[in-house]
Amino acid sequence: MPLHIHDTLRREKRLFEPRDPSRVTLYVCGPTVYDYAHIGNARPPVVFDVLVRLLRRTYGADKVIYARNVTDVDDKINAKAAKEGAPIGTITARYEAAYLDDMARLNVSPPDIAPHVTDHMDAIVAQIGAIVDAGCAYAAQGHVLFDVAAYPAYGALSGRNLDDMIAGARVEVAPYKRNPHDFVLWKPSKPGEPSWPSPWGDGRPGWHIECSAMIEENLGLPIDIHGGGIDLVFPHHENEIAQGVCAHGHAHGAAAHDEYARYWMHNGFLTVDAEKMSKSIGNVLLLHDLVQSMPGEVVRWALLSAHYRQPLDWNQALLDQSKKNLDRLYGALHRAAAVPAATDEAPADFLKSIEDDLNTPGAMATLFALSSEIERAMTAGDTAAAGLAKGRLIACADILGVLQSDPAAWLEGEVDDALRAEVEALLDQRMAARAAKDWPAADRIRDRLTELNVVVMDGPRGATWRLKN
Ligand code: AMP
Ligand code: ZN
Repeated sequence: MPLHIHDTLRREKRLFEPRDPSRVTLYVCGPTVYDYAHIGNARPPVVFDVLVRLLRRTYGADKVIYARNVTDVDDKINAKAAKEGAPIGTITARYEAAYLDDMARLNVSPPDIAPHVTDHMDAIVAQIGAIVDAGCAYAAQGHVLFDVAAYPAYGALSGRNLDDMIAGARVEVAPYKRNPHDFVLWKPSKPGEPSWPSPWGDGRPGWHIECSAMIEENLGLPIDIHGGGIDLVFPHHENEIAQGVCAHGHAHGAAAHDEYARYWMHNGFLTVDAEKMSKSIGNVLLLHDLVQSMPGEVVRWALLSAHYRQPLDWNQALLDQSKKNLDRLYGALHRAAAVPAATDEAPADFLKSIEDDLNTPGAMATLFALSSEIERAMTAGDTAAAGLAKGRLIACADILGVLQSDPAAWLEGEVDDALRAEVEALLDQRMAARAAKDWPAADRIRDRLTELNVVVMDGPRGATWRLKN
């Protein structure tokens, strides 16, 4: 089955047909770099990393262009810099570096393009100018505002009706707005805040225009897929469409949406112990801390264990199960360590799941079936079957971005250097004692290993070990 994805705009699963199969384009809204990302923020980059891996496999590694921006102009960044008394660039560089480090631990491949807002002021100012020229935006008191009434399809992505929105508006309306839902494309900066020149006065862009300008500049319009979390549907993505379409003077007609992005994908939200993550509840889990305390693949597996459009509850049972699942898969790979992989093709049932709007739970079921197949074949001494199942398992895992560690190292687990050194010394002594047929010494060593909670596995390439759970 060719790839089908659920399109938020059309509210249905659609066959994915790129505009140009030799240049498939994808944009995902990236982090605002003012603090460490929380675990919810990690869901979009992991989900869309799976999509990118699948697209590369389907269309060719060099035929897919994936952009994930870095928002390095924002009030929260200014506030953090002021609080620390540090330059803005120090804050953004620090949290961008931390984000990329944490992404690497989750096996998230770097995007092809990581556009920064600060590098795109000319493109942003040019796009605002084009929207003004098209009659869809107006300048007022140092601001430039998008005129939502000038874009008849406004509300199509989120399913909102502008008239209802106006009737129900409770927002405090700034005096310079013609319509309460008009949104900022450009605004003046306060003294001391970063500011750039523009035809409407010095200032800085609104958030929405950053993405539509960076998309046009880096990928060209229309792009194939635009992704992000479900909270971005309104207003962020609704506003992006309005800007992207109007900048080209195509404010009318139902097909205008296709001139910005052809498919819209949104991931569901993550809760922690069934509650919304929030600073006031005190349950905000930072990705940076999580990947220090457990392997990144456990976090990745947990994030992919629910379908991406469904809510995902983050809790200890989910993490325990994810670790157990990975241990099982690594165990099979370890058992077949000496058997060469006999294929690099993922089997049809895996592709059927993953191409069905990224059904990762279904795809994971194939991984378990393949690990059982490896175990069965190894027990039966059928290395041909084991090699085939192993190759298939690795091919599937490469699309999900898991099982990227050495199986023996994984099973040994995360242990501190002193313990690792002691265990390895004991294993050497054990080998020497066995070679010398010094059974009392071998027994003493075994007892010490048991004391240390170490399980030893003798295999064709010598002994490996892990800590007992
Ligand atoms: P932000 O830094 O708030 O703009 O969020 C960055 C990305 O993370 C956006 O795509 C959000 O939609 C997404 N996101 C934020 N919170 C959550 C959450 N609790 N669950 C899933 N995605 C989230
Ligand atoms: Zn965006």
